[in-house]
Amino acid sequence: FSAIGEEREIDQDEYTPGIEPQPTWCPGCGDFGVLKALKGALPEAGRTPDETLTVTGIGCSGKLNSYFNSYGFHTIHGRALPVARAAKLANPGLEVIAAGGDGDGYGIGGNHFMHTARENHDFTYIVFNNEIFGLTKGQTSPTSPKGHKSKTQPHGSAKEPVRPLSLSLTAGASFVARTAAVNPNQAKELIKEAIEHDGFAHIDFLTQCPTWNKDAKQYVPYIDVNENDDYDFDPTNREEAAEMMRETENALHEGKVLTGKYYVDEDRPSYQQEKQQIGEMPEEPLAERYFDDDYDWE
Ligand code: SF4
Repeated sequence: FSAIGEEREIDQDEYTPGIEPQPTWCPGCGDFGVLKALKGALPEAGRTPDETLTVTGIGCSGKLNSYFNSYGFHTIHGRALPVARAAKLANPGLEVIAAGGDGDGYGIGGNHFMHTARENHDFTYIVFNNEIFGLTKGQTSPTSPKGHKSKTQPHGSAKEPVRPLSLSLTAGASFVARTAAVNPNQAKELIKEAIEHDGFAHIDFLTQCPTWNKDAKQYVPYIDVNENDDYDFDPTNREEAAEMMRETENALHEGKVLTGKYYVDEDRPSYQQEKQQIGEMPEEPLAERYFDDDYDWE
């Protein structure tokens, strides 16, 4: 362990637990891509395992913090965000990473997602989006395409899928990106940027589920909209970002994968900063009070 704030070289192997288990994800699962990208991003962002908390929901994605050496909290279904919010408010020095699947985050925890974005809480949220409920064996999820057949929708889904990027922007997230497990370098860079961003940073991470979503071939190849000359938009411009998101979400339904950084607002204060401005939160971390024998709780 290092002292909080101490500057030293950080090796990504520090994020691998010294004790097994090995990941039990299926061979070829996109969840491995998230784990690898996260282990690459945190050292580059200068964060050590003892400065980091991973909070997960329920699902295959929820196993992330079992395979990751940091503080960890495996919550109940859809509730990673309120736990992450509380942890960050109590200890702003902690690097908080919330993670969960598309069913967990956009379905069961959809209400938390909307309000965490609206309030601009300062942490990173990675949604493993494989367009299916993987752990419970392949049911239709909020991002399954219309017409997708599963055990719960044997005649094909009659529902329009959630559009995560547009939803996030509309709700108020100040950093919105999409990446894919097939693109580990871009994924690492985007996670690093999300970690360094002050405010709610949402990454919709396309993770293939070869076991239960064999039709989802659309994850390869991808196009990076920030690098490709066919796409010209400014991620700091809300209207241009919204248009690019719509195009990206339509393209995915047609089998074309667009990824990249879609929106960033560096000027909007985080929830904690807003509370400090109105005098409801002290400058020092709340958690420090619990270790201060002389603190006057009156
Ligand atoms: Fe990954 Fe799907 Fe296997 Fe779950 S069921 S570990 S999401 S491939």
